Amino acid sequence: MYAWAKDLFPINRSLTGDGVRETLQYIKNVLPDLKIESVPTGFEVFDWKVPKEWNVKEAYIENPNGERVIDFKKNNLHLVGYSTPINKKINLDDLQAHLYSLPKQPDAIPYVTSYYSESWGFCLTENQRKGLEPGEYRVVIDSELKNGELNYGEIIIPGETEQEIFLSTYICHPSMGNNELSGPVVTMALAEWLNSLNFRKNTFRIVFVPETIGSIVYISQNLQTLREKVHAGFNVTCVGDNNCYSYVPSRKGNTVSDTAAKHVLKYLVPEYIEYSWLDRGSDERQYCAPGVDLPIATICRSKYSEYPEYHTSLDNLEFISPEGLYGGYSAIKRAIETIEQNKYYNSTLLCEPQLGKRGLYRNTSIKGSGEEARLILNLISYCDGDHSLLEIAEKLQKPLWELNPIVENLLENKLIRNSRKDPEAYMAVVPPLNELEDKNKKFKLEISMPTANKFEGVLNNRFINKIQS
Ligand SMILES: [Zn+2]
Repeated sequence: MYAWAKDLFPINRSLTGDGVRETLQYIKNVLPDLKIESVPTGFEVFDWKVPKEWNVKEAYIENPNGERVIDFKKNNLHLVGYSTPINKKINLDDLQAHLYSLPKQPDAIPYVTSYYSESWGFCLTENQRKGLEPGEYRVVIDSELKNGELNYGEIIIPGETEQEIFLSTYICHPSMGNNELSGPVVTMALAEWLNSLNFRKNTFRIVFVPETIGSIVYISQNLQTLREKVHAGFNVTCVGDNNCYSYVPSRKGNTVSDTAAKHVLKYLVPEYIEYSWLDRGSDERQYCAPGVDLPIATICRSKYSEYPEYHTSLDNLEFISPEGLYGGYSAIKRAIETIEQNKYYNSTLLCEPQLGKRGLYRNTSIKGSGEEARLILNLISYCDGDHSLLEIAEKLQKPLWELNPIVENLLENKLIRNSRKDPEAYMAVVPPLNELEDKNKKFKLEISMPTANKFEGVLNNRFINKIQS
């Protein structure tokens, strides 16, 4: 991941332009199934319009002695994003109005953009600014703003069901580490991992978009599908430093993505920072907007806007690290696994099972041996088809991944089965009809209960039709 970040670091990314395409092409070399899409300049999406495409050849400032004191080639943060072309001499007093620096961080170049109103400017450290002597400066920006396109990338990794988990990250910041490259490289690694799995319950939809306008474009192109299929997801941003972990909720705050994120962080890093929806600042603003209503939460390391290096040249390759990236990757991977494994189960017996008879725990009850059995029985007691495994894990105050071996054991021993509440999972393992009849005969109580959903109806009808025929 860190090697990918190093490769991508020098590229001048923005909302549009060659840097975005070069970045997408790099991602496609790693993930050949990436589809690169485009919409033209002027394309109207909801309340927004796709801006002109911006490209830069060079940009610099020469001091009165003809020395280049600021050069875009040395650091692409030196140029205000979307600067219009210019080539003229200007005195220092007039130049000052076009310069941006941070007095409180005298060694940092700030990251500044002007996407939606045409202007030009340079960013420099406060120390560089102080060193500028009075006189005539030459300002050159060889940039182009033209009718072009906005590009984004999408990969669909199919699973057993059409239910989707959505991952979104952005590719629009120039040379910065945590608040830019950590997102795409962790997402690339997650996509590689998902591709390598033999079984995926959910289908995965993964997008690399320019922030804000890109996610708005993506939503406008896919709204119906997203709303129908996406039942969980994460915005992947700021996952590369090694300082802390944090969580930003979806607008609703109680989606399965939120529960999974908090569940995972609680056990992996109990001291993680929990932010509120009011602290949002990335593409969850669009994905969770009223009417879009996607269940998108965010797991970060140091969250955007919350660390001093944010949006400056200090958020560089030294600010992120292989360990930091791996930590961000692992937390999101675990949250995805939690959602993949979050199923509903039904107990197959009336009353508690006799565990000893099945070798599920020691027959001889001595002090202390009851704990394991208690955990098994507690788990089964919530296998009513109404509690998901994640909800059960929360109630039992155990990480879901510690319950998995027990669940597998209980499934093997046919003490629980996949629930009809989880229609996709249930249908995926639905037994042959004759077996189903046997089960239904055995568990009359269960099928006489009111049908919970259409899938239960379908199954009962299949059963009833069979009887009638
Ligand atoms: Zn940003």
